[in-house]
Amino acid sequence: MKIKSPAMTITENKVAVICRVRPALNSSPHSPDSITVASQTTINVANHRDPTKQIQYSFDACYGSKATQEEIYSSQVSELVQSVFDGHSATVFCYGVTGAGKTFTIQGNDSHLGIIPRALNQILKKKNSSKGLFEVKMSYYEVFKENIYDLLREVDCGPGLPIREDSNRKTYVAGLREELLSSFDQFKKSYSVAVKRRRTASTKLNTNSSRSHAVLVIKLAMSSASNSAVIYGQLNLIDLAGSEDNRKTDNNRERMKESTAINQSLFVLGKVIEALNSGAKRIPYRDSKMTRILQNSLGGESKSMMIVNIAPEESFLPETHKTLNYATKTKSVINKESIIDHNTNYSSQSTFNSSRSSLLSNKST
Ligand code: ADP
Ligand code: MG
Repeated sequence: MKIKSPAMTITENKVAVICRVRPALNSSPHSPDSITVASQTTINVANHRDPTKQIQYSFDACYGSKATQEEIYSSQVSELVQSVFDGHSATVFCYGVTGAGKTFTIQGNDSHLGIIPRALNQILKKKNSSKGLFEVKMSYYEVFKENIYDLLREVDCGPGLPIREDSNRKTYVAGLREELLSSFDQFKKSYSVAVKRRRTASTKLNTNSSRSHAVLVIKLAMSSASNSAVIYGQLNLIDLAGSEDNRKTDNNRERMKESTAINQSLFVLGKVIEALNSGAKRIPYRDSKMTRILQNSLGGESKSMMIVNIAPEESFLPETHKTLNYATKTKSVINKESIIDHNTNYSSQSTFNSSRSSLLSNKST
């Protein structure tokens, strides 16, 4: 059944969670009923412990295996990119186990362009039609075992780049290359070199690229006329490391260290999204490298989206439930008490707003 998901309006502060089920791959056995997209916002997944039962999960939007790259982009992502032109930050994460379709969704291939080339196309078109200043800068790095490697340079096996704070206590990666982009062709060239480098880097680092997070950052500086104020916007597009519990299959010591780092950073990301979505006072940005770098882009008036990628094959079912439970936990919980209790609500909201203001004052991220 093909269900068209709605274009979504994201409420301020919230991280939208959308789910995408990829088509079954020819080579693998697939039971067609193990996952069904039941409505625009719900999916039903067979219970791997009791196949006669199904568990329903609900998200901001759900896409079945027939959803195209174009459909996902136009109904979910282009509005986020549009908000960057107004001086906001926007972030898209793809979360899921290895093989679930994260790289396909965020990067795509030559015949099925993913979110990254589509976003760059939208941005560079806007740049070409703009009469004032419109500067587009790209950086691309990976986070592996809590170390940051620049993918726009040759990757060495050293300790990686440090995170520093500027005088406004805003975090940045020191020494990261930023490339000024003037055309889509230029972007394509640099990006494809960097994508290849991600693969060779994983060989050098003696691992698999699915064990690193890849973060593409696009920074915009815009003004309508040469003497008017400059507006800064930022877009982060992130292919997260596979969320499977690698410890089960490989007890090599190095792999254990990698798994611990992956599990920790995905755990912290989940906590950050959960805290943002429930309006918590303390957001644990500092508990992992990636959330620390993205601190200025998550929360505040930033718009963020987590795309949860799901594989339909039965062999993935136990991990699929884990993935969907993780994503469900990050959703906002609006309970009646907090609505009735105006005082509590007001004070926590105002503290949250003041931390938002301080984030916004550091806006030139
Ligand atoms: P991940 O990055 O999560 O490990 P990939 O994006 O590499 O997973 O996807 C695994 C395989 O499935 C790849 O061969 C990819 O081309 C294919 N694939 C994933 N999603 C889709 C989709 N929506 N439509 C067609 N093929 C897909
Ligand atoms: Mg991948």
